[in-house]
Amino acid sequence: MGSIVKVTLANPQFVSNAAREQRCNICEGLRRASSRYCDRCATILRRVDTRRDPLTGKKYTKHDRDARERALKSAWDRDSKIFRCQYTNLPLKETWNKTGGNPFYLSFDHRTPGDETDLVVIAYCINCMKGKQTEAEFRRLVLQVIEPLRIWASKLGAA
Ligand SMILES: [Zn+2]
Repeated sequence: MGSIVKVTLANPQFVSNAAREQRCNICEGLRRASSRYCDRCATILRRVDTRRDPLTGKKYTKHDRDARERALKSAWDRDSKIFRCQYTNLPLKETWNKTGGNPFYLSFDHRTPGDETDLVVIAYCINCMKGKQTEAEFRRLVLQVIEPLRIWASKLGAA
């Protein structure tokens, strides 16, 4: 009987598969056996979007979980164990301050307004700035804004 246990534990394939099965699909943190995600990621995935679709004016009644998973995976910073804004690289917060909000709150952005299948994780304040623009339009706007700001900042630095 003892030899059976030995054989099982000595099999590295068995051990690594078992360990992988207990890992979150997004952050690779520990998860419950009943879920593909850790509690932290599961909470973000389940979030209800209270915004309205800018094109139709309707509420986002259902979200695309796979799209959210993809977006979260690419925003996950393994080394720091945090999510990062995909437009700015800013570290994101997962809690919303009920009194004052949180500019760095993790939010899902529809790359193209209304398209639920193509999401990206970005800071709430960046999402507000982006508004109804497509990603390409937003990038153009940022480039137009950034040069005057750079000049303004350098004047402040010189004063
Ligand atoms: Zn996770």
